[in-house]
Amino acid sequence: MKLIDGKAIAQKIQLETLASVELLKSQGHVPGLAVVLIGEDPASRAYVRSKDRMCQELGMHSEKFELPATTSQADLLALVARLNANPAIHGILVQSPPPPHIDERAIVEAIDPRKDVDGFHPVNVAKVALGDPDAFVPCTPLGCQRLLLEAGVETAGAHAVVLGRSMIVGKPMALLLMQKGPGGDATVTVAHSRTRDLPGVCRSADILIAAIGRPEFVTADFVREGAVVIDVGINRVADPGSPKGSKLVGDVAFAEVAPKCRAITPVPGGVGPMTIAMLMHNTVLACQRLTR
Ligand code: NDP
Repeated sequence: MKLIDGKAIAQKIQLETLASVELLKSQGHVPGLAVVLIGEDPASRAYVRSKDRMCQELGMHSEKFELPATTSQADLLALVARLNANPAIHGILVQSPPPPHIDERAIVEAIDPRKDVDGFHPVNVAKVALGDPDAFVPCTPLGCQRLLLEAGVETAGAHAVVLGRSMIVGKPMALLLMQKGPGGDATVTVAHSRTRDLPGVCRSADILIAAIGRPEFVTADFVREGAVVIDVGINRVADPGSPKGSKLVGDVAFAEVAPKCRAITPVPGGVGPMTIAMLMHNTVLACQRLTR
């Protein structure tokens, strides 16, 4: 069994990004990312802080907006409009989930698609579906595809089962795997909560991507001997033995599944670091496209 080291692969991508940032700077451009957070959710705050820190490490311009939970839809739309018009900002993301009074879809649609580094704007969703190379691809599935490429996993002709059909992970993941070219050309099945015989469907996978948000749901009986497993799940569960009282686990029961796999990603240290690496990559791409 090979452990796919997402942390090491993410570091390699950050070095590539750093080289691109330096080239852009030599041409007079500094890639800039604006991250908007509404409310006090501690996990979201931690994500926003790490994105801000990563920008600084790469020498990129970063603007962080930590807004109170009472921020109105109109104020948020006004901020997005200002960021759209700001030439120092090339990427805009609004940390999900916003408070319930905010219409998240309207906010995403207000972002200039050329600055939509999360790849959630309908224009980018359509471009991914069309296989348009100018698309911004959502960071998590893009990171999973890159993990497969870096780990030397052949996707062409393989049966890939994507467990989960969200717009953030499952659906774009399936689109990427079925696209023509490197990291694609797979035969793709998308499974979800209405799928009949889920363990049987998953067992037919050469490559299984688990993105359902259920701690350690994918057990050994879901996995064929010799399969490659990518675990997207990030779930905090109680762990009385640890000083924090909790720990992170994936959607895959790692201890029992790993021995059956040809290769598998751990949690933490698998897909997680790739998501942020791809966000930085997309921001540099946005800067390149907006300044060319
Ligand atoms: P969502 O809740 O949006 O989607 C979950 C999907 O899983 C849905 O399609 C749902 O089916 C399906 N599902 C849920 N329960 C079951 C079940 N019992 N059997 C079969 N299918 C099921 O989650 P996300 O896609 O946003 O996230 C998935 C996981 O990935 C979470 O753990 C999240 O924390 C993690 N994540 C990790 C990231 C990273 O950077 N590593 C980034 C983003 C997410 P249905 O549509 O039928 O309801």
